[in-house]
Amino acid sequence: MSETLKLPTFEDVAAAAARIEGHAHRTPVLRSRTADEEFGAEIFFKCENLQRMGAFKFRGAFNALAKFDERQRRAGVVAFSSGNHAQAIALAARILGMPATIVMPHDAPAAKVAATKGYGGQVVIYDRYRDDREQIGRDLAEKHGLTLIPPYDHPDVIAGQGTAAKELYEEVGPLDAFFAPMGGGGLLSGSALAARALSPQCKIYGVEPEAGNDGQQSFRSGEIVHIDTPKTIADGAQTQHLGQHTFPIIRREVDAVFTASDAQLVEAMRFFASRMKLVVEPTGCLGFAAAREMKAQLRGKRIGVLLSGGNVDVERFGALLAG
Ligand SMILES: *Cc1c(COP(=O)(O)O)cnc(C)c1O
Repeated sequence: MSETLKLPTFEDVAAAAARIEGHAHRTPVLRSRTADEEFGAEIFFKCENLQRMGAFKFRGAFNALAKFDERQRRAGVVAFSSGNHAQAIALAARILGMPATIVMPHDAPAAKVAATKGYGGQVVIYDRYRDDREQIGRDLAEKHGLTLIPPYDHPDVIAGQGTAAKELYEEVGPLDAFFAPMGGGGLLSGSALAARALSPQCKIYGVEPEAGNDGQQSFRSGEIVHIDTPKTIADGAQTQHLGQHTFPIIRREVDAVFTASDAQLVEAMRFFASRMKLVVEPTGCLGFAAAREMKAQLRGKRIGVLLSGGNVDVERFGALLAG
């Protein structure tokens, strides 16, 4: 693995930005007077909940697929995901006119399966407890010549994810601190590449669910720590470990990794819904939830908060807020 490892750089993020232009939305940066007053600071929310298909994952997926050669395009892409990566790959493939096969567990939410099919993805279901999904993927790739694109551990995916933070710094200028959710670390590592180039003094913070702090443990120990799938409402960050590509960048560029509890995520969701009229999915609230715990240190600062996605079905959204 390590001999083939090629880590992306800011140049790759800049190239990705050119590739996705006109396909991904340049999402708005929103402000809230209430948030600024709560913190005694200036907060800039980068709204990837308003990105196409509802999350930043479209950026990395589109960038990776846009780099396929003619042969790869004809055969198509394969991805494993029950969440936002599935929809991102399916939509990007449709736009680029290539076939997409998405391998999903049998218990994936019906709405996510329907959304993936709606974007034209061919869905292959596997049994989470009985089947080996790696084997399914290898068989599909071999038999049909498909290219596998993972959700975070890939240089082109990381570079694409970094374009959101790049847009943020270009729009508002240098910041003192930046908070982003962290699952496998694709978003955080890409964001860190953008930050170091455009706002070198900015502190970069990753935030993961309290129920599964493998990233925090890895960051502190210097080794990628593996855990069981954590039980949390932050379903976009239920990863078991950081990636071979994301971890070295995070170790090098990130200042600290924090955690947020499910209760803190619900409080943040409530804030976005009631004060900013925004639907942010639980995972998308991780950055803001952690920032709220360190208001004393952030007083008087300029702070970027990345809202990573808005894909939560309305019944669940209502139930979480009511609960
Ligand atoms: C995938 C995802 C994340 C985590 O991104 P990583 O690149 O795996 O760290 C965070 N928020 C949302 C909404 C996601 O879909």
